[in-house]
Amino acid sequence: MTDAATLTPTRDLFSKFDPLIAEREALLATGVRDPFSIVMDQVLSPTRAIIKGKETILLGTYNYMGMTFDPDVVAAGKKALDEFGAGTTGSRVLNGTYQGHREVEDALKEFYGTSSAMVFSTGYQANLGIISTLAGKGDYIILDADSHASIYDGCFLGDAEIVRFRHNSVEDLAKRLARLPADALKLVVLEGVYSMLGDIAPLPEMVAAIRQHPNCMILVDEAHGMGFFGPNGRGVYEEQGVEDDIDFVVGTFSKSVGTVGGFCVSNHPKFEIMRLVCRPYVFTASLPPSVVATAATSIRKLMHASDKRAHLWKNSKRLHQGLTDLGFTLGTKTPQSAIIAVILTDQAQAVAIWQSLLELGLYVNMARPPATPTGTFLLRCSLCAEHSDEQVEQIIKMFEVAGKATGAIA
Ligand code: PMP
Repeated sequence: MTDAATLTPTRDLFSKFDPLIAEREALLATGVRDPFSIVMDQVLSPTRAIIKGKETILLGTYNYMGMTFDPDVVAAGKKALDEFGAGTTGSRVLNGTYQGHREVEDALKEFYGTSSAMVFSTGYQANLGIISTLAGKGDYIILDADSHASIYDGCFLGDAEIVRFRHNSVEDLAKRLARLPADALKLVVLEGVYSMLGDIAPLPEMVAAIRQHPNCMILVDEAHGMGFFGPNGRGVYEEQGVEDDIDFVVGTFSKSVGTVGGFCVSNHPKFEIMRLVCRPYVFTASLPPSVVATAATSIRKLMHASDKRAHLWKNSKRLHQGLTDLGFTLGTKTPQSAIIAVILTDQAQAVAIWQSLLELGLYVNMARPPATPTGTFLLRCSLCAEHSDEQVEQIIKMFEVAGKATGAIA
């Protein structure tokens, strides 16, 4: 170990971060609160926490269905902790499968109506593992330019040729597919809901364009669609009626399911071989018993959650309308999902309004480049089925106060 105090080289492997460090320091010098200093000292419910002694409405959790405090879910986790211990301490390939892993995969198979389900330690690892294992050297991955980082990282790990098409453009997708060698094997990766702006993909049109070409398999990431879209809550691909055309669905337990973990479901007859060849599955520890027990319970409850889905839609529509009426520019013209993104073009103003909201008692996510396009700053709101009508009205009022105080709205 080098001693930082005595050995400070002018240039080392951290030098590339100097511009970012300088930008961050300049921002903090203006009095902005460091996001990493914000600690939720108590979490009271899926929608409320105590931050710095102040009760705060949570509007940036992705806890769409509010399952984190569901009494059955919490009880299942406690029971598994008592009966199976705190962790598995290794990979399922070596240490073995616990009953809870089998149960959560059975719950997923039932939820999605598929023959296979494979659980990963996170959704990030599910994309990393599935994409890199399916498509390797000599294969092609065709993906939306706005794809999640885990999709991009899966592409890089697998060494396939990457072809990007313009976000949600069926025309660009068709054009790029037409240029690829017909005999090459291809994986098209789509998302049901794109989490930056909260817009959804035109999947039937995309599937029709893809089916013009041979040797294409389709993977849809439904991280932000699970629980909320479709008659069974499977995702946008179910809502839009393209279930039979999708080869793989990737998802996460960290949003509607309310815990942590990731998965891939499929009807492919050879899918189970993935358990032996997928490195981000083989070479990492499996989820703890308490986590898989909470996930299995939550997934089974989400099969019968149409009332929650209806309330979540109501919340999303009301917030979209309220913010539009106030004069904010939003990521979508109409509410398309449970994510409502307020678009700002000035970093200082975005930070000021984010901080002002926090002081008023509202926590939202702030996203900035490189996660967003250059010059775009987002205050990303994610609604929860447990937000009450009153809370949504309070949220709109807080945006009005913060927006006016910072000059973001007139
Ligand atoms: N895919 C998408 C589209 C996501 O937004 C996320 C997380 N934000 C993931 C995958 C990764 O999920 P996890 O949090 O379970 O790693």
